[in-house]
Amino acid sequence: MLEVRSVAVTLDGNEVLRDVTLSVSNGESVAVLGPSGSGKSTLLRAIAGLVPIESGSIMWDGREVTNVPTHLREFGLMFQGYALFPHLDVAGNVGFGLRMMNLPPSEIEGRVTEALDLVGLAGFRSRTIADLSGGERQRVALARTLAPEPRLLMLDEPLGALDRALRERLMVETREILDERGVTALIVTHDREEAEALSDRLALMRAGTIVQSGTLADLIAHPADAWVSEFLG
Ligand code: ADP
Ligand code: MG
Repeated sequence: MLEVRSVAVTLDGNEVLRDVTLSVSNGESVAVLGPSGSGKSTLLRAIAGLVPIESGSIMWDGREVTNVPTHLREFGLMFQGYALFPHLDVAGNVGFGLRMMNLPPSEIEGRVTEALDLVGLAGFRSRTIADLSGGERQRVALARTLAPEPRLLMLDEPLGALDRALRERLMVETREILDERGVTALIVTHDREEAEALSDRLALMRAGTIVQSGTLADLIAHPADAWVSEFLG
């Protein structure tokens, strides 16, 4: 279980996160929903250990991970815009984290195959990234993040770059993959539909802090303030 307690992050003198408190239970999927610039990407980067926190703590299963280096946290982050490696083919991208873990080649091979099967790209191993459609890139990025079997999966605007029809299809597919794997997931997005489709519970973020969390029905029925009802309305 992930617990973020009163986390603050300041970047270049700019207080980007303040008093962020949030938890994700094992097997649960939580979406952080908030407008652009509210600090969502920074929150994921802080949890991953890619930006330092100024105060507060990040815990996994009751143990502090605040000072654990990124690669030892066993958290997977799919970046906004995916950040695929253009010089590697599909299998090279999906196997990247596995090579970083120094797994034997035969195991990497097996796990790449499994991850590509999971996202419906079994025949795509040797394709170059430049030749993929937007939806295929999204699925390669998801396979790359899932392949090391992270104990926490974090997705930053996972469908944000796609057109409407494709987004709707991939919302359903991505949710099925999360459910099939029973993954613990933290998803951030500015899109309410995407947040709702991919999560069990929402946490609303505004100006660097979480203002309210609950199911969409809870939030609509009992908004904490006028901003919440307007943002969801
Ligand atoms: P979101 O993902 O919700 O759009 P971000 O986490 O990317 O928000 O950014 C939140 C705020 O932090 C923005 O105002 C952004 O300009 C600021 N910010 C992000 N990175 C830095 C940085 N390296 N230095 C200073 N300010 C930053
Ligand atoms: Mg962002």
